[in-house]
Amino acid sequence: MKSQGSTLKHRYLIQQRELFGDRLYTGLDGSNFFVDKEEITYQSITLDDFDKEICHCQKCQLGKNRTNFVFGVGDPNGSLMLVGEAPGEQEDLKGEPFVGPAGKLLDKILTAIDKKRDKGVYIANVIKCRPPNNRDPLPSEVEKCEPYLIRQIKFVKPKLIVALGRVAGKTLLKQDIPLKHMRSKTFDYCGTPLRVTYHPAALLRNPGLKAAAWEDFKFIREFVSD
Ligand code: URA
Repeated sequence: MKSQGSTLKHRYLIQQRELFGDRLYTGLDGSNFFVDKEEITYQSITLDDFDKEICHCQKCQLGKNRTNFVFGVGDPNGSLMLVGEAPGEQEDLKGEPFVGPAGKLLDKILTAIDKKRDKGVYIANVIKCRPPNNRDPLPSEVEKCEPYLIRQIKFVKPKLIVALGRVAGKTLLKQDIPLKHMRSKTFDYCGTPLRVTYHPAALLRNPGLKAAAWEDFKFIREFVSD
């Protein structure tokens, strides 16, 4: 016999299918399952499956001009999740976040806190497609794309999310405040602790910020250590 919880879940899924169509990912209880065409089945899906599911997204105008959809990269069980604002030119060409000069610096910072791109860390952006001329993401683009990030967080279940830079910070916090007021505080993002630090590109432009950034990353190292 079905438990009351599972009956409710079943009913919820039927209702969602009526509203939104045959195939629907959902994160009830943090579980990953989908509603199939024929019947409702509960099936484990992976981050890769999720990437394949959404990588042809055309929900906003950025989909038309992208070279690649930049889903994310790294350890699907990473204790640390880094979130940038949006892919730049190099990222768009390669389909991977933070692969340009800022990404090279990010890799060095990760090494300094005993992590690697594919070990202990997952890296993504709020927006998965490159905005023209690297402009800031528009609120309408964020609205369409942020649910993808939230799903990724549900998969990875990091101990800590770190927003890289003011734009990523203000987008996730929904508060347009200076970076100095976002740093050194722990916020909550969809149930996961969130910190904000400098974007590595800012550290390249202004190396004088590196000492403060290092303070942030020492905190981060401590926070995610077992
Ligand atoms: N800047 C970002 O915010 N994200 C990237 O992936 C690259 C540069």
